[in-house]
Amino acid sequence: MRWSLKELYESFEDDAFVSDMKLLDEKIEQFGEWVNHSVKEGNDPAETILTFIRYSEEITATLSKLSQFASLTSATDARNESALDYLNKLNVKSTALTQPSVVFQTYLKGLDSLEQIIESSLQLKEYAFYLEQIKLRSKYMLTEKEEVAISKLTTTGSTAWSNLQNKLSSTLMVDVLLDGEKKSLPLPAVRNLAYSEDKSKRLAGYQAEMDAYKKIEESSAAALNGIKGEVVTLCELRGFESPLEETLIKSRLDKETLDAMLSAMREYLPAFQKYLRRKAELLGHRNGLPFYDMFAPMGEVNITYTYPEAMDFIIAQFRTFSDRLADFTQHAYDNAWLDVEPREGKRGGAFCSNLHGIKESRILSNFSGSFSNMTTLAHELGHAYHGANLVDESILNSRYPMPIAETASIFCETIVVNAALNNASKEEQLAILESSISDSTQVIVDIYSRFLFESALFEERKNSVVSVAKLKELMLKAQKEAYGDGLDPDFLHPYMWINKPHYYSAGLNFYNFPYAFGLLFSKGLYAQYLKDGEAFVAKYDTLLNATGKELIADVAMRMNVDVHDPDFFRSSLALIEKDIEKFIELSK
Ligand SMILES: [Zn+2]
Repeated sequence: MRWSLKELYESFEDDAFVSDMKLLDEKIEQFGEWVNHSVKEGNDPAETILTFIRYSEEITATLSKLSQFASLTSATDARNESALDYLNKLNVKSTALTQPSVVFQTYLKGLDSLEQIIESSLQLKEYAFYLEQIKLRSKYMLTEKEEVAISKLTTTGSTAWSNLQNKLSSTLMVDVLLDGEKKSLPLPAVRNLAYSEDKSKRLAGYQAEMDAYKKIEESSAAALNGIKGEVVTLCELRGFESPLEETLIKSRLDKETLDAMLSAMREYLPAFQKYLRRKAELLGHRNGLPFYDMFAPMGEVNITYTYPEAMDFIIAQFRTFSDRLADFTQHAYDNAWLDVEPREGKRGGAFCSNLHGIKESRILSNFSGSFSNMTTLAHELGHAYHGANLVDESILNSRYPMPIAETASIFCETIVVNAALNNASKEEQLAILESSISDSTQVIVDIYSRFLFESALFEERKNSVVSVAKLKELMLKAQKEAYGDGLDPDFLHPYMWINKPHYYSAGLNFYNFPYAFGLLFSKGLYAQYLKDGEAFVAKYDTLLNATGKELIADVAMRMNVDVHDPDFFRSSLALIEKDIEKFIELSK
């Protein structure tokens, strides 16, 4: 099953695509002229800001639509030259926005009564949060010349490195020995062997993956050093205390919240390690769980799905939450919003892209029928539903920060898992519960190891280029600290830094703790849903709708949640601990 992109454009030769490319050029030029000639002291500030907003809306809408078409095309066809070519072109075009944006930000910074100006205009009030965020970020802005130079240089720096890494990993063919026969498979297919029922296949997949990474370890390390080096340099220049501080500001999350969450997570690591040791025992290991058995399916019933079965199941479970969510999902299914199975040249993993301009979404997955593949679909559909709650907002108020980005997705995953659990036999319960705990272990324990790794990587990168050997060492150290005696120290995964694409995006540093926040925030909300039922459902959509225009602590407060209090996170973690106890009980 492949997705349909013609709702965006028919092709790169489509008249609509060509004319939008032209329109974008014109708009960018007009915007530049307007800013450089008309934005100055003495103007009517409300009118000036409003004109800026209109330009921003038009340019953002056109640029997003064009880039989304190119990046979605590239996601299923890494060798598509036109897609890469247009992505580069669009990237270059968007750098032309830097100079006028800096001029405008400087103007905004100089207004001492921004709040009053916003208050005075009904139209501006709608954009209050957006404008305040621009003013906040202007604190870290450099001079106009520097900003322009930086934005041009990043296209040949971090962006180029990131494209290289993407191409290397998505076209990597892996030699793997299966049933005595040597096969050459794409990396995502080999990684999917980790979910195989057959232990020898899981081990063969792991060994093949480790060997394959050797082919791209030096080039990946060069890309990673290039990207992280650029981030370190820019953070220093801009006056951020650290890349983490920059991420927190962008995330609209304060340090107090992050610390509250991390301390609760550390307290609960032993519970997860207990689960991993139990799983190891059940699989016949004595020294903790080897990495290659981390995703081994457990329980006598091995639940698998065809794609239509998975979608029918998801839609039925979503209906227990609300008709709106179920109907929305049915619509996505009927209208080819999903690109489902793995194939060569298609990127690994799964993601959802919300296409605000056409009020739709597209979902990419590498579905091969496992329970976890099914819950991933539910997860991505949650992202799409989040997008659907924002389509009537201005595009400028529709963008939400990373930590809240995983709320709706994990919430939808929880609906599916819990509903499945209720309908299941005892054997199935064990399998489902285990799969859910396994996913949570990724989001809490593995994410914690990634947070440790990335923190250490930034520290090292400040002083020098980090070698392949050092990267592997940092990764192993982080895994040992997070997993403790839960994993077999002789079978860890020293190459996770090649495997996770987030490390290779200069704009997505620390794309790890947001997952943990998303899970724990969602679990907390889900508990509230079970308590409040119907009343919760309407409030939930309002919460999603506010995510583009409020700080996270304020969004949480809409549900009376205080994210500065570790107890909130502890109560969500306690729910997972309860599942772990139940799993251990069932497995006896
Ligand atoms: Zn997600």
